Amino acid sequence: MLYFEKEQSFAHKMDKKDSLSTFRDRFYIPGGTIYMDGNSLGLLSKDAEYSVTRILNEWRDLAIKGWLQGKTPWFYFAEEIGKKTANLVGANPEELIMTGTTTVNIHSLISSFYKPEDKRTKILADELNFPSDIYALKGQLKLKGFHPEKDLVLVPSEDGYLLDEEDIVNLMTDEVAVAFLPSVLYRSGQLLDMKYLTQKAHEKGILIGFDCSHSAGLVPHKFSEWGIDFAVFCSYKYLNGGPGCSAFLYVNEKHFGKEPLLAGWFGNNKETQFDMSLVFDPAQNAGAWQISSPGILGSAPMEGSINLINEAGIKKIREKSKQLTSYLVFLIQEYLGGEPYSFRIVSPENPERRSGHIAITRDQELFRINEALKSKGVVPDFRPPSLIRLAPSPLYNSYEDVWKVVQYLKEIVDKEEYTSFSSQRDAIS
Ligand SMILES: *Cc1c(COP(=O)(O)O)cnc(C)c1O
Repeated sequence: MLYFEKEQSFAHKMDKKDSLSTFRDRFYIPGGTIYMDGNSLGLLSKDAEYSVTRILNEWRDLAIKGWLQGKTPWFYFAEEIGKKTANLVGANPEELIMTGTTTVNIHSLISSFYKPEDKRTKILADELNFPSDIYALKGQLKLKGFHPEKDLVLVPSEDGYLLDEEDIVNLMTDEVAVAFLPSVLYRSGQLLDMKYLTQKAHEKGILIGFDCSHSAGLVPHKFSEWGIDFAVFCSYKYLNGGPGCSAFLYVNEKHFGKEPLLAGWFGNNKETQFDMSLVFDPAQNAGAWQISSPGILGSAPMEGSINLINEAGIKKIREKSKQLTSYLVFLIQEYLGGEPYSFRIVSPENPERRSGHIAITRDQELFRINEALKSKGVVPDFRPPSLIRLAPSPLYNSYEDVWKVVQYLKEIVDKEEYTSFSSQRDAIS
């Protein structure tokens, strides 16, 4: 299945055969750029733009009536988008809700699922985790009167890029109450074996949750079938929901009825919410973990975006993504492996074990090489101390984009073009 050639004509051939190629025209690709940063902020689609405009018009024309008379009534918006998104992650429709933001959702779920008892007082995470997730876990430990360092067990990584599932399992001791891990390590793109980790955690009496921000909309999951207890993910990476778009949270139906401790009135049973009782009557589904009025304007792009993703189909998206990243790996090895290029790939070799980006490193000058790459119209991202991440999106990148990026990198090193750039870093890279 994975066969590549190094000439540009091969990229053309692949683009002609690509059944997802037409989706590219549904996106706004910033002029003159090759956008390879969909793992940080996905692009705006015309579909998302349309849903935002429509909902803005509903506010203008319907005002408060929009809560029940919007095309997707705002009162049920979070539930409806949850239902439409459920198939991407293998959730039952009632188990997924669009709400809050990733980090707030972590707080909300950990506050319910972390119940230190007797010897089981620890939370298990990993040292390669996204900082925000770790801050949230430490805060939750403190809130419950535990120690943010001693009671947070971080699985170490041998090389600073990858984790070994067996190391995680070995730390699943009878002192651990909850494990909270990313589906994908945001630097290397390594995809963890969530099914296996869930099975092992449960064998050891540990609840397990995942942050799937770096896989949702790209890698199909089977949350319910695997029996994952809870999960969160953002919607602005591969889901293309826009900057700070409302996020998602998942609660397995076996936990319906558990008490949401960061309680708020939108978590109430919808039938009794407007009775305005002072006694919280939580919804018997994942919606119970909502807190406030849903940010309808901040969720609006997701409606168009999820329709587009469902039209393309998550299986096809994943297939093309694996092809694109494997093609990128192939070209890097062909063109950029030896001296003087000396780029090394830190992402897992096996496409089944990685998400949608390829991370490359180099002993010297990587930052300025990245600056030179940006000046050629490529949008990559740089993660200190020395990592360039390239994420070819199956919905709006072509094989030719991938080919060109590798040629640019070659040119930058061949002609030492990086020497004319500064080593100063912007606030957001
Ligand atoms: C993107 C991402 C976040 C972002 O958190 P916000 O609360 O949405 O800012 C958190 N965790 C992980 C693993 C991410 O990939």
